[in-house]
Amino acid sequence: MPKIKKTVIIPGYRCNNNCQFCLNINKRNSIPEKTTLQIKKEMVEARNSGTTYLELVGGEMSIRPDIVGLIKFAKEQDFKTIMMSTNGRMYSYRNFAKKIVEAGLNSLVFSIHGHTAQLHDFLTQVKGSFNQLKKGIENVRKVGLKNIGSNTTIVKQNYKYIAQIGKLIYNLGIRNSEFIFVDPSYGAAHDRFYKFVPKISEAASYIHKCLDIGKKHKISHWAIRYVPLCYFTDYLDQVSELQEVEIFHTEHLAPDFENRDVEGSRKVVGRAKTKRCQGCRLYDKCEGIWKDYLKNYGDKELKPMK
Ligand code: SF4
Repeated sequence: MPKIKKTVIIPGYRCNNNCQFCLNINKRNSIPEKTTLQIKKEMVEARNSGTTYLELVGGEMSIRPDIVGLIKFAKEQDFKTIMMSTNGRMYSYRNFAKKIVEAGLNSLVFSIHGHTAQLHDFLTQVKGSFNQLKKGIENVRKVGLKNIGSNTTIVKQNYKYIAQIGKLIYNLGIRNSEFIFVDPSYGAAHDRFYKFVPKISEAASYIHKCLDIGKKHKISHWAIRYVPLCYFTDYLDQVSELQEVEIFHTEHLAPDFENRDVEGSRKVVGRAKTKRCQGCRLYDKCEGIWKDYLKNYGDKELKPMK
């Protein structure tokens, strides 16, 4: 099957949350947002070059005053999927949720970092953000949005609760979920590595319990992202990158960079395998682990598979 071309437009990094582990912590207030015109131009170019899957991420895209108009414009370009990832807070306003879904947004991915208000709000550093997020999910459902997903960043502060977070997501009726091992290449987890990055050998068994929820209920997308495969040999069909490389060709268009081959460059630039991996039967499939992880924790945890 030919791959789906996905264009991810990042308009900037402004956000109404203040997540402790934010990848863009150093960019949030220093990089100017793209203009409405710039974003529209990028949409037209993407569509002309064959993109059918448009993804809008931030920062937090929903706080832009021009957002409803941008979604309408995307709909006019005839993208099959118009997806946004969000912390969900703006969607707690019913009128906003209604307007944006009516404008043409047809897929929404909510960031859910804790199973309780205490944990989620602690990580986002915004009191009330968990309750707003839950209200947002309820609102978009009420106005007819069907395609609802979730993202959870796995950090030291929440990995022991990852199965409970999975259970919450399941109970919220979400059936399209990614659990993402924190990326320490830049941002907060780079600057304060030991504060945020758990050891894979310690986190894996907790993550397995979360992935078991997806297995048990036969959920088609309930996946882990950015982990070495040796800790997930019984879960290879739930490793996001392995699925993604078969389905998508992705480009990222941010205010401060352009990456026209996300899958290819992540393999080469961000992640690495080491000498220890030689002879591993999963070598060709595996992207290894983040280079910054190796710099800090070394490669002793990697377990070449016979
Ligand atoms: S030993 Fe290396 S190549 Fe094998 S699964 Fe682990 S990280 Fe991947």
